[in-house]
Amino acid sequence: MLTRFAPSPTGDLHLGHAYSAVLAHAAARDAGGRFLIRIDDIDGSRSREEFIGASLADLAWLGIDWDGDPVRQSARLGTYAAALDDLRARSLVYPCFCTRADIAASLAAPHGAPDGSAGARYPGTCRGLGEAERERRRAAEPHCWRLDIERAAARAGPLVWEEQGQGARTANPLAHGDIVLARKDAPASYHLASTLDDAAMGVTHVVRGADLIASTDVHRLLQALLGLPTPLYRHHALVCGADGKRLAKRDAAASLAGLRAAGQDGRALAADLCEARLPTGYFLQMP
Ligand code: GLU
Repeated sequence: MLTRFAPSPTGDLHLGHAYSAVLAHAAARDAGGRFLIRIDDIDGSRSREEFIGASLADLAWLGIDWDGDPVRQSARLGTYAAALDDLRARSLVYPCFCTRADIAASLAAPHGAPDGSAGARYPGTCRGLGEAERERRRAAEPHCWRLDIERAAARAGPLVWEEQGQGARTANPLAHGDIVLARKDAPASYHLASTLDDAAMGVTHVVRGADLIASTDVHRLLQALLGLPTPLYRHHALVCGADGKRLAKRDAAASLAGLRAAGQDGRALAADLCEARLPTGYFLQMP
């Protein structure tokens, strides 16, 4: 068994991260397996070096040990580019030149969100551009790369994954529309990088928050397209504060650095979290 914890170094870790890390770590260690850390630092504009060191210090304070050096996504850009090339060669991705304002305007149009539920789905504006226009604009305009989700889902066929303790789940990638695989400002999206990395790291069990269940629709599709194995998934409940909202990086009171500074015992906290016992004022909730 091999699990991982994959913080994005964009802020301080909080109790929610601790819960996730503790569960993933315990799952591996209880089975005599391996536990890896991955630093999701692909977003150069938001990632900060100081948060990497701080996150590792927080994990050590919790008594979490990891195998090998942390893997950094910023060191794996060539792998993401190669996968994108592969999908491009199979006509499964296309360049998109739309700005946020373009997308908002077409979604606001009466025909933009036909079923009322697809407000955030990309309307497909650039999907039908001709080859000549695509090439001309690619040379001149900033663009991202989107997956042609209908074509991709048709190639992949029916997709399921195993949710630990709950059995098979059917992936519904079409609900996401043509998602971005490489951004204008970052060489790969979370979906592409995370799917490739989990496979390259040999992750057998993905343990992460239930806010990412929907992402698994997309990850399962990418696995099928790129010939990658499908791990087992466990999407766990999220840590919420007294207001019922899940913790965010701005919730300083729940930051691990804050708890540590207040004299808390990290190992005792980790043991409690492992048993789903949370400090007063915090509780677990499925989104
Ligand atoms: N870096 C991602 C996050 O912090 C990891 C998500 C995942 O575990 O796949 O949300």
